Amino acid sequence: MGPGRRTLLRSVVTLLAASCAAAGTLAQPSITLVPERVSARAWMFRGEPGMASAANRGFMSNAGFVVTGDGVVVFDALGTPALGRGIVEAVAKLTREPIRRVVVSHYHADHVYGLQALKAAGAEVWAHRRSLDYFASGLAAERLAQRRADLFPWVDETTELVRPDVLVDGDTSFRMGGTTFRIIDTGGAHAPDDIMLLVEGERTLFAGDLLFSGRIPFVGNADSGKWLAAIERLIPIGPAAVVPGHGPASREVARDLALTRDYLAHLREAMGRAARELEPFEDAYAKTDWSRFRALPAFEPANRINAWGTYLRMEQESLDPARK
Ligand SMILES: [Zn+2]
Repeated sequence: MGPGRRTLLRSVVTLLAASCAAAGTLAQPSITLVPERVSARAWMFRGEPGMASAANRGFMSNAGFVVTGDGVVVFDALGTPALGRGIVEAVAKLTREPIRRVVVSHYHADHVYGLQALKAAGAEVWAHRRSLDYFASGLAAERLAQRRADLFPWVDETTELVRPDVLVDGDTSFRMGGTTFRIIDTGGAHAPDDIMLLVEGERTLFAGDLLFSGRIPFVGNADSGKWLAAIERLIPIGPAAVVPGHGPASREVARDLALTRDYLAHLREAMGRAARELEPFEDAYAKTDWSRFRALPAFEPANRINAWGTYLRMEQESLDPARK
């Protein structure tokens, strides 16, 4: 192909991309979301199972909100601007109170690209101070570029990542209307900037990605030591309902907390022993008794990756005595 033709081809491609982008922007009405009631004042939006894709319009994570009597607090913003607008519209159908605040569980792509719609609706964005590292590292820009490709047209050139207005560091609480909220800083268990939101009178906890209901959690290379510590802190709080980052709400909170705790402890013990004894991962994995967890949903896709991530982490921890 000659250079002239290549230039022509390139401009056709550019034109196509531009018109797709324009069409994409126009073709994205807000997505109608139907909230599920969790407790007297708290509601959730439940995403579809599976990974984010253009087919599910990026709707595979959860968000929620609380109507306080003097404004609405939203927890997480879902994974696209259209979903964010869906939150704003669903809230407006239920109450005339404005959305005053949105608390971000952590800056992972499936929870934050709806923020621009909430911000446009007047919400103040609260997140952990460590989210600033995500922006500073260049990861935020990289991830957005990737999502613009993978989730087009739901994430496109008009999608931007909104930074927090208020930075949280450590546990804190605030009151709005008749409701007291407690923000729980987990110290960076699933992501460096994890926080959870407890609605005190309702005993409802928005847990982000730190709790799953009736299934094996996705651990990957999360800091399972900090995660375990966070779970131990939640047990005495005794929430009546937990809204996780993915999947249905948990009403059997004690069972789900115990399952997550026992699974993490089992992973750490088995992989920690292997790492200390310099046993190869494959041997350790084959030797470990998984029978207690094998029948649970998500065991097949998640367990091996969880074990591998934990093996690497335990290797690091065994080399760094300060971390034990
Ligand atoms: Zn996450």
